Amino acid sequence: MRRVYLDNNATTPVLPEVLEAMQSYFGEHFGNASSIHHHGQETRAAVERARESVAALVGCRASEIVFTSGGTEGDNLAIFGLLNSLSNKAGHHVITSTIEHHAVLNSCKHLEAAGGEVTYVPVDGRGQVDPDDVRRALRPNTRLITIMMANNETGVLQPVEAIGKVAAAADLYFHTDAVQAAGKVALDVKRIGCDLLSISGHKMHAPQGVGALYVRKGTILRPMLLGGSHERSRRAGTENVPGIVALGKAAELAQQAFARGDLERMSAQRDRLEQTILGEVEATGLNGKGAPRVPNTASICFDYIEGEALVIALDLKGLAVSTGAACSSGAIEPSHVLTAMGLSPERARGSLRFSLGKQNAAEDVDFALELVPQTVARLRELSPIFHRAAVNS
Ligand code: PLP
Repeated sequence: MRRVYLDNNATTPVLPEVLEAMQSYFGEHFGNASSIHHHGQETRAAVERARESVAALVGCRASEIVFTSGGTEGDNLAIFGLLNSLSNKAGHHVITSTIEHHAVLNSCKHLEAAGGEVTYVPVDGRGQVDPDDVRRALRPNTRLITIMMANNETGVLQPVEAIGKVAAAADLYFHTDAVQAAGKVALDVKRIGCDLLSISGHKMHAPQGVGALYVRKGTILRPMLLGGSHERSRRAGTENVPGIVALGKAAELAQQAFARGDLERMSAQRDRLEQTILGEVEATGLNGKGAPRVPNTASICFDYIEGEALVIALDLKGLAVSTGAACSSGAIEPSHVLTAMGLSPERARGSLRFSLGKQNAAEDVDFALELVPQTVARLRELSPIFHRAAVNS
């Protein structure tokens, strides 16, 4: 049976070049990067080469990159590492948005439970934060702004440069979760004006379980993991050398893909996918319409459809998509991102996320376009609400 995977915001397949680059670090080059003998020196050199590549991807110095186990750890380290390093620990105020990933949202909830204050800035109907709302949320005890660069459900890009200016004017720290932006849009920490930026390997064709946090020179972080002095004492633990090598290779490939114009081609395929669905299937809408988005993501709401039912029906025919964040699947609550944008719970539940990856070809979009309209029509045939609406219209 033919299977097409259009759920690359959940995770991406490891590219063959990335797998090849990392493979020898499971066997031939197995040393502990902290060992001073030949084996250690070999892996240390590989880790430092990867650090250069990741630094080049985000536009910083190699010494400003801390390798982590992924996006969740990067977000947690940015938030808690920073706040725990400040004197006068209680009563800090943090500004975030209502559409963050749970790695940030639940960290903020934890801060509140521990006595801190958090403002959750809203988004407009297109899914964007207004930097003026961030400015208006500033308080004398605000220490950190943490707002994502690209949303995982809608792909909507946030005005991070303008938010960076708000942070700089108020002399505050700014963290951005760039997990869904890395490899899809150019990253430049200086232009963004952030002090901390997290990325994750498995969203950019490196394996699961590796990531990186940019920490601007001079930013003090209290490590969350205590142990050896790895990663300049910012993250203890023997390095995941194969994963780090893979992340470095994926960063290089991402840069090459930008230079070749691959992302423009990807966005053309994404546009074809969404325009055809919106044109062919009645009672549909594009979530995040009119906002700048990463080139691979389309979030579409299908009225009178239960998103989970559509995901299952499409999966049975070989197409993998999702209703939203992979870590929220099975959740009864409608997406917090879509409801924050003003969608009704029904519309949020009837939304599907299509996300392309580097491995997808135009034929994969053709396959989705063949299946989606007929599957939606079949499910609506079975839906009494759809029939009632059709009679009333
Ligand atoms: N932040 C965003 C925006 C994400 O989409 C994800 C993963 O879905 C994460 C953070 C967490 O990253 P990881 O899965 O590497 O822990």
